Amino acid sequence: MLEKMAEINLDRVIEDFEAMTKDAGVVQRETLRKILEENGNAEYLTSLGLGGRTDIQSFKDHVPMVTHRDLEHYIQRIADGDSSPILTGKPITIISLSSGTTQGKPKYVPFNDELVDSTMQIYCTSFAFRNREYPIGCGKALQFVYSSRQFKTKGGLNAGTATTNVFRSSQYKSTMRAMQSQCCSPDEVIFGPDFHQSLYCHLLCGLLFWEEVQFVSSTFAHSIVHAFRTFELVVGELCADIQTGVLTSRITDPSIREAISKLLTPDSQLADLIHEKCSGLINWYGLIPALFPNAKYIYGIMTGSMEPYLGKLRHYAGELPLVSADYGSSEGWIGANVNPKLPPEQATFAVLPNIGYFEFIPLKEAGGDAEPTPVGLTEVEVGEEYEIVITNFAGLYRYRLGDAVKVAGFHNGTPELRFVYRRNLLLTINIDKNTEKDLQLAVESAAKVLAEEKLEVVDFTSHVDLSTEPGHYVIFWEINGEARGDVLKDCCNVLDRSFIDAGYMSSRKVNAIGPLELRVLRRGTFQQILDHYLGMGAAVSQFKTPRCVGPSNSTVLQILCSNVVENYFSSAF
Ligand code: AMP
Repeated sequence: MLEKMAEINLDRVIEDFEAMTKDAGVVQRETLRKILEENGNAEYLTSLGLGGRTDIQSFKDHVPMVTHRDLEHYIQRIADGDSSPILTGKPITIISLSSGTTQGKPKYVPFNDELVDSTMQIYCTSFAFRNREYPIGCGKALQFVYSSRQFKTKGGLNAGTATTNVFRSSQYKSTMRAMQSQCCSPDEVIFGPDFHQSLYCHLLCGLLFWEEVQFVSSTFAHSIVHAFRTFELVVGELCADIQTGVLTSRITDPSIREAISKLLTPDSQLADLIHEKCSGLINWYGLIPALFPNAKYIYGIMTGSMEPYLGKLRHYAGELPLVSADYGSSEGWIGANVNPKLPPEQATFAVLPNIGYFEFIPLKEAGGDAEPTPVGLTEVEVGEEYEIVITNFAGLYRYRLGDAVKVAGFHNGTPELRFVYRRNLLLTINIDKNTEKDLQLAVESAAKVLAEEKLEVVDFTSHVDLSTEPGHYVIFWEINGEARGDVLKDCCNVLDRSFIDAGYMSSRKVNAIGPLELRVLRRGTFQQILDHYLGMGAAVSQFKTPRCVGPSNSTVLQILCSNVVENYFSSAF
């Protein structure tokens, strides 16, 4: 199917999906067999004594559930250039950078052609269902997509974010063409070295092809909101470029300039039209359909940490439907949105049983010392929450993803999952992801500045403040004495700089996340918090300071906010 993408038959894609999900249990068994057959000679599997067996029971008996930390030294050897069969039968030649920064650096994850195949399968499946509800004509897609910088690992392997690895694959373009979803912008814009220049040119290309745009999309909804916020600021400049046919001097990258100059010719009629359309709007409500009247929907991941952007997105979208995109991770895809008409808040993801072998740890059993017992894909129960465990074609076996999902129902024999939360994630505003460990490392770095003054951080917690525009991180500190203002200001800058997650840093650089705020608390605040928990029946021996306080934890947030004695904003970016 994928080699002949130009002839993609959407009815056939749906039929195949229906057949496969009816037999989800059998397909899962077959998928595991294939994975273990292809990779049975890998050092990792042979060392576990699997001995070439490919059945579910032997697999569970011999292969332990692992986290990234357990596999790190295997992956590092691959990245360092060891091409022997370590995790997979065929050598891994590409590495993805996942957002995890628990060890103070992004995680390396193996990437290969099989992951590209499953990405295309997910894209085609959800597109087939989407197109049945919202058919698009022949045209283009205004896609706010950006490539990350690629680099070579020590062993000479290409490394980049998983989306970049997908965008660079030859299959991506042909699939997009077959799905009538070709990007308005040339490759030079997608792969440009500077985010601001690429964003400006995506907007410009969208306007040049305004009549052809069939839908507006991005991987994460946040980027769409960010793009149209930027549009509000640069619309005059965009219109001037279109009027004169000359690209603003702000775009300095020669390859982007050359690519855009092939598309841009003076068109004062279009410039006037854009100006007229924008002047007719009230507070930019309905901007997207005003600019792109033939667009049928807006598409991107809108669930999980993207939900806070739905309000603004709906404002720009006016009456245009919002369709939430699929569910996956750098480690592999999981499910497709086959119910595109559901509002994003209710979006579910039907697991594709042939792209990996999936297990589910029931969260109601979690806690305690006993090793949790996962259940299979077809054994999950509606209404229950689970952590996902993935076995994929790229060398991850029984890998705990760390995401909590809820089973919303079944599509034939395969579960439809709702994303609930990331188990070890604390701070996230848009594409940034920081864990408890990341927070701890940041606080430790900043505490070194305090230590020079012979002062200590007594305790700390954090909060994501979305009441400001853009949102920002707040770190609450209780200190064992009085620190000077200039010292605390330094600490605040160090905190901001210490979150080295690529998503955080890139968002900070473009002010998609505001300056980090350090709030210093009155002495005894954490004692008050402890008292509050004890009052609710918690035991001191089990008490753990909440390291991130969300809006639902309103009492604790109130205790914190009413005890702030001074606050500082970072000037680190
Ligand atoms: P990364 O580690 O950068 O590959 O990000 C993958 C993570 O992003 C997943 O493990 C989820 O926590 C989150 N994610 C991906 N897709 C979705 C989705 N459709 N809804 C909510 N969260 C998602």
